Amino acid sequence: MITIGSVDIGGTKIAVGAIREDGRIVKRLECPTEPEKGFQHAMQRIIAMLRDLSAGGTKLAGIGVGCPGPLNPFTGVIGEVGTLPGWQGGSLAAELQSGLDLRVAVENDADAAALGEARWGTEIASGTFIYVTISTGIGGGILLGGQLYRGVDGAHPEIGHQVLDNSGPQCYCGARGCWESLASGPAMVSWMREQNPDAQVSTASEICDGARRGDPLALQGVEREGYYLGLGLANLITLFAPDRIALGGGVMKSSSLFMDTARGVIRDICTQVPSGKTHITLASLGPDAGLLGAAQAWLLRHR
Ligand SMILES: [Zn+2]
Repeated sequence: MITIGSVDIGGTKIAVGAIREDGRIVKRLECPTEPEKGFQHAMQRIIAMLRDLSAGGTKLAGIGVGCPGPLNPFTGVIGEVGTLPGWQGGSLAAELQSGLDLRVAVENDADAAALGEARWGTEIASGTFIYVTISTGIGGGILLGGQLYRGVDGAHPEIGHQVLDNSGPQCYCGARGCWESLASGPAMVSWMREQNPDAQVSTASEICDGARRGDPLALQGVEREGYYLGLGLANLITLFAPDRIALGGGVMKSSSLFMDTARGVIRDICTQVPSGKTHITLASLGPDAGLLGAAQAWLLRHR
């Protein structure tokens, strides 16, 4: 059984792991991303950590990488990524390949997580499967017939920037009222502060705690979260009529507070497709989704 070196690059931390092809994580290391130190510095740290992983005799067959987009999944060249300023133009594939002499597969992190969840989640997804992560931002990956959907030039579709209310909050993407600007964790916080400038909240989870204590404004906040979460999902269901949707990301840890509202919105809106047959579940891989997904991206491309 082969083992893959897996790299999950995020805005705050980089995780690397040795993943067996049956999905077992053999070893795991991490370090802060420190994007301000530059792309080359990060690559040197990743190469050092991957060498550490294989030092004990674990032979790596190749390297799978998940990284926030935009990026080109075939050349591994990074575009203008908001959380990785200054990394634009760096080639993940070229750097890791020459540093370790192993074949590399690079994937958008949300696409990688979708691949990992479809392969190793509790409910293996075939058919049409959409993975959505709701945390600091909203992103996701779409699998059609078990294959990753790619757009023109391999582009990754940005489901988090679908516009739900064009009189809504301004997003960095240029649109007003896109899904991310209405239903991400920071969107919940912004709304709360707008309603009550004295509100002492800085995270979505504090709002969810407030709702559990019965705070009326926090309860309105989670109700609003359920509404916009449901609206974005309803659009995906009407467009794709998927077999399954898996929801991951930090905000979903409090899903019991707002999923009933979201499901209600879907029931009301999605009348033109058999939406009741779309199975909506929580993602099951948790914080390891990125590492497992990067390994699965490599397996699909090079195995
Ligand atoms: Zn946007």
